Parts: sequence; structure tokens; C-alpha cells
Amino acid sequence: MSIKKLGPEELLALDKFSVDEGQPHILVDKAICASCTPQVCLVVCPARCYRLKDGAVNFEYAGCLECGTCRIMCTEKGVTQWNYPRATFGVTFRCS
Ligand code: SF4
Ligand code: SF4
Repeated sequence: MSIKKLGPEELLALDKFSVDEGQPHILVDKAICASCTPQVCLVVCPARCYRLKDGAVNFEYAGCLECGTCRIMCTEKGVTQWNYPRATFGVTFRCS
């Protein structure tokens, strides 16, 4: 029997998200992001919740894996709120 090895994209696709619409668990200050040079969030977020859109950093919390990396790595204090999602919301990790 052979076991298929899944890549990061395939593994992420297995996860299930229950999005708390209208109540983001992470808040980002767009004004701070606009003057941020390092923009480390673009490379450290494993879920690519931070992306460049029309030259500005855009944040979308829906696919967040709740790893906390952006909270630690944002040196410019652009992440102004970081909480886990409310009970029953957020990511459910699933294995193949
Ligand atoms: S979230 Fe932090 S690292 Fe990312 S652009 Fe905003 S200030 Fe910069
Ligand atoms: S907590 Fe992790 S997955 Fe969620 S936005 Fe921050 S870096 Fe991305």
C-alpha cells in the first residue's frame, strides 16, 4: 500500500473554517500598514491572510489558522487586536 504525500496547499484545503462574520478576531490598522516598510506579514502568514492589493496590504481573517505568527512578527504594531475566535468559530484542522 502506498501513502500519498500531500503538499501544503492540499493540507490547508482539508481544514474547515467557521467564520464569525462581522466580528474579526484580528484587527489590523490600515494607516500603520500604509507606512510600513518591512511588511513581514506578507511572508510569514502561512495562510496568506495578508496580501498586496492595489499596492496596499490587505488583511482577510476568514482563512486564519490561529498560529499567532503575525502578532509576534509585526514589529510596527499594525496588528492592534489579536484574539482567538469566539467559541464554535475559527479553524478546525483535519488530517487526510
Ligand atoms: S500588519 Fe504589521 S507587518 Fe503587516 S503591513 Fe501592517 S504594520 Fe506592516
Ligand atoms: S494568526 Fe497566523 S494564520 Fe492567522 S493571520 Fe496571523 S499569521 Fe496568518
